[in-house]
Amino acid sequence: MTEPLFLTDPYLSETGGTVTEITEDGSVVLDRSVFYARGGGQPGDSGVITWNQSELRIVDTVRRDAKIMLQPEPDMPLPSVGQTVIQRLDWERRHRFMRVHTGLHLLSVVIPLPVTGGAITAAKGRLDFDMPEPPQDRLVLEARLKELISRDLPVMEDWITDDELAARPDLVKTMSVKPPVGAGRVRLIRIGGGDDQIDLQPCGGTHVRRTGEIGAVTIGKIEKKGARNRRVNMLLA
Ligand SMILES: [Zn+2]
Repeated sequence: MTEPLFLTDPYLSETGGTVTEITEDGSVVLDRSVFYARGGGQPGDSGVITWNQSELRIVDTVRRDAKIMLQPEPDMPLPSVGQTVIQRLDWERRHRFMRVHTGLHLLSVVIPLPVTGGAITAAKGRLDFDMPEPPQDRLVLEARLKELISRDLPVMEDWITDDELAARPDLVKTMSVKPPVGAGRVRLIRIGGGDDQIDLQPCGGTHVRRTGEIGAVTIGKIEKKGARNRRVNMLLA
């Protein structure tokens, strides 16, 4: 099992670790990981691990059960099991994922409809909504989104048990992405506090600390996808 350090400290970009396994497909498993494993529409992290005089480029990160598997560039020398390494993210790329990801939470506030899908890149993100009717004017939605960003609301986390979540189905906005249950407890992401709380939903992704850190965004194309679905694109400026 790999300790997912990104869950408790998404700003940690470099730390040590020990190789616990090299998988059959040549992935490196560490005892703990700053590398986010692909999931919930957010890509896996890239970066490097280094040991002795060696450096290995990590191009993607995936999860298999409780293991986080770092996928290296092919045909490169791998560390041995038991080796201690330094792991370092491509921080600029990850930070863009965090900005986009948190921005998508706000998009789900501006458009309060069930979410049927989503994806994130370093340049933009999109959410698919169960939205049979055309939305409001794009620029009106964009102005609301920018207002939430400029309020610089805190992004906080809470943990609840799987059972508590099962008793609160209203918390789950995403119809396609299941909340990260199974570990006995689930993390909730809360945006804004007290009377100013605007969003609360289970999420295993990485987020910025305050909405102001998302920075400048625009809403791009709104595409019709099938009878009920519409896809809303949000771009980092
Ligand atoms: Zn999230």
